[in-house]
Amino acid sequence: MRLSLAPLCLALVLAGCQREAVRADAPTADTPVAAPAPAATVPADDNLNAVLWMQTAVEYRANSLQTYRAAIAQLDRALKDKSWDALDPVERGNPARGLPPAVIFDVDETVLDNSPYQARLVQSGGEYNEALWAAWVNERKATAIPGVLEFAKAAQARGVELFFISNRAVDLKPATIDNLRSVGLNVKDDAFLGLGTVVPECEQDGSDKNCRRQLIGRKYRVLMQFGDQLGDFVQVAPNTPGNRDAIYDAHRDWFGQRWWVLSNPSYGSWEPALFDNNYRAPRDARRAAKREALRVAH
Ligand SMILES: [Mg+2]
Repeated sequence: MRLSLAPLCLALVLAGCQREAVRADAPTADTPVAAPAPAATVPADDNLNAVLWMQTAVEYRANSLQTYRAAIAQLDRALKDKSWDALDPVERGNPARGLPPAVIFDVDETVLDNSPYQARLVQSGGEYNEALWAAWVNERKATAIPGVLEFAKAAQARGVELFFISNRAVDLKPATIDNLRSVGLNVKDDAFLGLGTVVPECEQDGSDKNCRRQLIGRKYRVLMQFGDQLGDFVQVAPNTPGNRDAIYDAHRDWFGQRWWVLSNPSYGSWEPALFDNNYRAPRDARRAAKREALRVAH
């Protein structure tokens, strides 16, 4: 009886139900009010699982850690072998032999963890937004990807220079260097080559990193490259599934030797390759193209 009366009294209290409301077994002002019924649906977002995996799964952390640890184990071999160079021959315009050693890192999801920014997009239901991205970068709150600090320390202890080629815009350089240093990396002022870096005698196409890689290659033998996207290692043109497969096949021997790939299921050039790189297409159309790419059998 109480269960049936309580909601009735709450509903009618302003309509003269006070007499019922003072019954000993009736709800009082101290009785907790039931929480509102949950929304019928939880907003869906294609990035929910990917961001949660990167933020909460020990498997993700272990994967990054083992990548950098395996790279440390290859460092001495790479230093000793004077023919060892991690630039694709197409991008190597000068002999590497005899040059001082360096390694090249991408920044985002290779060295710095920006998953809180991705998490904000999932919560808001938004997509990449330049202003929100710049605001996040300027917070300087990204943390280090597991293992990178140990690798950087091991490389620098062997006299290897560190360079960071990023598609963060050059105007985000101060915040980026601050953030890299705040996580414990020993970064020189000229070690960051952001989007917009001018490279003499090299024509850079959009956000491609090939000219910046060449710039470093002119003065250094590149022992290793680290990235979370294929374009961090070599120019990918066109960004199609077929060309990406071909680059993978051509460089199979370099992965885990000269090229080291960090996991990033949250975003990256693999995704637009599935919808003709057309971000102007409506979100549903892009999602439909991705569903079309699912393989339900081998
Ligand atoms: Mg990246």
